Amino acid sequence: MTVLQTAQSFETPVENGLIDPFGRAVTYLRVSVTDRCDFRCTYCMAENMSFLPKKDLLSLDELDRLCSAFIERGVRKLRLTGGEPLVRKNIMYLVRQLGRHIGQGLDELTLTTNGSQLARYASELADCGVRRINVSLDTLDPEKFRKITRWGDFNRVMEGLDAAQKAGIAIKLNTVALKDFNDSEMPALIQFAHGRGMDLTVIETMPMGEIDEDRTEQYLPLSKLRSDLEQQFTFHDLTYRTGGPARFVKVAETGGRVGFITPMTHNFCESCNRVRLTCTGTLYLCLGQNDAADLRSVLRTDGSATAIDTAISEAISRKPKGHDFIIDRSNNRPSVARHMSMTGG
Ligand code: SAM
Ligand code: SF4
Repeated sequence: MTVLQTAQSFETPVENGLIDPFGRAVTYLRVSVTDRCDFRCTYCMAENMSFLPKKDLLSLDELDRLCSAFIERGVRKLRLTGGEPLVRKNIMYLVRQLGRHIGQGLDELTLTTNGSQLARYASELADCGVRRINVSLDTLDPEKFRKITRWGDFNRVMEGLDAAQKAGIAIKLNTVALKDFNDSEMPALIQFAHGRGMDLTVIETMPMGEIDEDRTEQYLPLSKLRSDLEQQFTFHDLTYRTGGPARFVKVAETGGRVGFITPMTHNFCESCNRVRLTCTGTLYLCLGQNDAADLRSVLRTDGSATAIDTAISEAISRKPKGHDFIIDRSNNRPSVARHMSMTGG
């Protein structure tokens, strides 16, 4: 069986490493530590979301146990996400616990955040070994920021970026491309990011979960955005990969990098190296499919290291070949019913 070479799998694979039926090494675990958030981005959540009862959530120690089991099986990169990971109570306890694995099997501990709590936590994150983070930012206009996030405060996010950079944490900005909302702002976002030494990745909206808006109205194909940007910037394709689905270009005018994530117009599944754990202990094997395994029940019944290991192996043996996002235009229903905030993107 050929093991596809991904950015995370260039290391010597561990003996009991996780290889899926298509020969892909699973070396990247994304963990949604909460489904809650202090924002309500219009493309991600409805304004009146109902959240999970706290008893359904894995405790921080249970999350630590599962993450550690994955690291034992060759996971090299761990990303905490959500909902908003930094609103989970006592989250720094988990970050510190997981930070102990860095250099001992784990290459990188990172997180994706909306930035609202970064000013408070940046130096502690750096102290726990976090060296890079992704911060979501869809506009540079404070009023538009309030509109798209419904509840967010732009200035707090800016303070968060300052604090993270001051703590020595590298930042990649993530921007969801939204038709008639931020398409005209993209050049300014690129200049802003590169002016501060940050990469920027643009993401197509994906049809996940019921929201209050019409998704077809929000959808902006990145092929169109890219050709518009090429009127203004010179892009050189790069082979640089972060182990994720983004394809990067170097922008000649700024010297910085822009990534494009195109789940709708270009399928990126062939090099997929990741699985996703939700805050309830459900392991999703693909962002765009419903195949999953209930690791919480394993934890809370047998709970032995062997039982957890067996459940992880069984799940990986069912990882599907790829996703198949569609928006059902007859009723505008999303093709995947769960919200992105459940699996963290
Ligand atoms: N709250 C954190 C944040 O916003 O960065 C982490 C969780 S959020 C679900 C992770 C990423 O998913 C964000 O960059 C967000 O913009 C993106 N996202 C959310 N819903 C999406 C959708 N339907 N399509 C594409 N990206 C989405
Ligand atoms: Fe919250 Fe992130 Fe979803 Fe926005 S994208 S509502 S910040 S989870």
